[in-house]
Amino acid sequence: MALPHWKIGRALGIPIYVHASWFVVFLFVTSSLATGYLPDMLPGLSIPRYWGMGGIAALLLFLSVLLHELGHSYVALRYQIPIRQITLFIFGGMAHMGKEPPSPRAELLIAMAGPLVSLILGAVCLGGAMVMDHLFAQPGLQGLLVLGSLLGLVNVQLGLFNLIPGFPLDGGRVLRAGLWAWNKDFNRATSQASLVGLGFGVALGLIGAVVTVWNWSGALGQSLATNGGWLIFIGLFLFSAALASRRQAARQTAMASLTVRQVMVHRVVTLLPDMTVQDAVDRYFVTQGFGGFPVCEGGQLLGVVTVRDVHALPIGLWPLRHVREIMRQASPALCIPPDWPVMQAMDRMGQSGLDRLVVMENEEIVGLVTQSAIAHFLQLHKA
Ligand SMILES: [Zn+2]
Repeated sequence: MALPHWKIGRALGIPIYVHASWFVVFLFVTSSLATGYLPDMLPGLSIPRYWGMGGIAALLLFLSVLLHELGHSYVALRYQIPIRQITLFIFGGMAHMGKEPPSPRAELLIAMAGPLVSLILGAVCLGGAMVMDHLFAQPGLQGLLVLGSLLGLVNVQLGLFNLIPGFPLDGGRVLRAGLWAWNKDFNRATSQASLVGLGFGVALGLIGAVVTVWNWSGALGQSLATNGGWLIFIGLFLFSAALASRRQAARQTAMASLTVRQVMVHRVVTLLPDMTVQDAVDRYFVTQGFGGFPVCEGGQLLGVVTVRDVHALPIGLWPLRHVREIMRQASPALCIPPDWPVMQAMDRMGQSGLDRLVVMENEEIVGLVTQSAIAHFLQLHKA
């Protein structure tokens, strides 16, 4: 999603963003309500009134999607899963989770929370509209009644649609949780649940195509034609998301058996702490072509210095400062043993914000593992 997005606020401590594509949906929903649905349901009102009501309804739908995502986020936070942000975009909303759920049970509960919020909201809105209709059947309340039942129906649809068991939809996550609990293999479960996602993507696309063709032949009403196009669109989205998840799972499976020793750089060049930054740049960064070096003295690891650390220092100070002053100090987080799985090393890099780790065996440096080396390794082996 290369289009811009804007932060509009925070909820549960999570920043909320609106993606540019969301405005397309907002305009589409507002205009189709203002020119079709509302004049049909509430004849005799002024055109600005229809547009005003359409806009309010679209905003309330946006709020419904947000509450759905907050449902997922609330449960995820209870499992200590950080939520980086919630983005609202053309296909609804997405809560970006910082890591995978720790257990099938956590996955199940997080996945169910969103549709549950939508179904409860739907029931409350529909129930409220029905009660209002019974108790106060006044003409002035008709607009509220129409908006309430529309909101109720959309929330029920939102809940039910997301329960389609194709990964990465919520229902697909429920399926993955089940498969994961069954075969005890997270990546295999993802792969299988995404295969079902591919199937539903194709099915939605086909249903959309049939609806569209039927409409062209005049057998169906006008409003279903737009739904047909929309179904094809959603089918394509689900298909590509499921395909990406399946590939990701295959990569993770391949990586699960890979150890740090297999991907690390064996020939490690180290810097001395009392060398000037200028020296380090001229003699090491430029000529050796590495993005960072361990700093050692007397066989002891003192830290790591990277291109980023050098860039943070104004160029005029390069001849005056020493590597020791700008390096990142050695810490247990910086060092890993060679028999660790690569996945674990990548998790460590992700958590610590480092792009390279020093591989130590018997208190000696035996290698260096970097994000780019892992990427190159995987690229070569894919070929
Ligand atoms: Zn959801």
